[in-house]
Amino acid sequence: MADILCAECERPVKDGLTLCVSCGDSLCEALLVVPELLLDIAITRARLDRVRGARTAGRAAEAALPVRAAGRGTLMVGDEALAAIGNTVTTWARALAEDLGVNPPINDAWLVRLTEQHRDAPPRDGTTLPLVSVGAVEQAAVWLAQHREPLRAYEAALELLRDITNAVDRLRCAVDRPRELRYLGPCSECGAELRAERGESWVRCRARTCRTQHEIASIEADARAAAEDRLYTLAELGGVLTAVGARIGRATLYRWAGARRIEPRGWQHEDEYGQRITDHQVSEGDRQVYRLGDVLLLATRDEKQGGSAA
Ligand SMILES: [Zn+2]
Ligand SMILES: [Zn+2]
Repeated sequence: MADILCAECERPVKDGLTLCVSCGDSLCEALLVVPELLLDIAITRARLDRVRGARTAGRAAEAALPVRAAGRGTLMVGDEALAAIGNTVTTWARALAEDLGVNPPINDAWLVRLTEQHRDAPPRDGTTLPLVSVGAVEQAAVWLAQHREPLRAYEAALELLRDITNAVDRLRCAVDRPRELRYLGPCSECGAELRAERGESWVRCRARTCRTQHEIASIEADARAAAEDRLYTLAELGGVLTAVGARIGRATLYRWAGARRIEPRGWQHEDEYGQRITDHQVSEGDRQVYRLGDVLLLATRDEKQGGSAA
């Protein structure tokens, strides 16, 4: 009897399923990075929204962080990639659930917990650290990944593998793109957006009537100084710290917060009027916010004492 070949890699498949074990593993691995990528996108978006909100509210004193994106489209970082992953994952989760005769266990405690573990973020402990809550798409992806054998058996398993890996690649691009070009905030002369590639030390304003040269180090220093007084949730701080060039790991950040080595300065509340910082908890979903300057100061102190902040 002729060997049955894997639809993806064309190696013989002993158990005769559509995908071989190793391609099945690749599929599950791709599914399991979805929670982390979606969290990264949520954080990227929150950061952009915060800056946009500050601008439209006319609080000119708040200088932009060097992570700001500008122009049409950038405020919708990852929109297309998000739609693609959402469609693919929910369609397949529905199909699998139907075949297994179950409901996808979205929001069941075990699945939420498992999904959180795949975010590469510290788990929630007794102090209920604020996190972006896990959504249905990332849960469905993790649930699918628990079913390698039934997925391998699908006649359309190859299509699933390609759909998922494509969608994951696109998500990755959406997350990475804002980091490739650095957004340095508005030109001090004309207000046009300044953008530079990594590794450059000078940037020339691209406005045709301006063309002013700026030293990137001094723009960064100004942005950092202005940002120090701003308040961020722990989830946002991870990205913001990277943007200002501070090497403080997420785990360290959560540990400092848990041990009250950094004190929360308020709460981030969101309602139909938008997002704002309040001095007390308004509703249950509100997350505590920390001052960037507090975190940077603690990191400097730890470093001086020979400790590692990473
Ligand atoms: Zn294979
Ligand atoms: Zn300019």
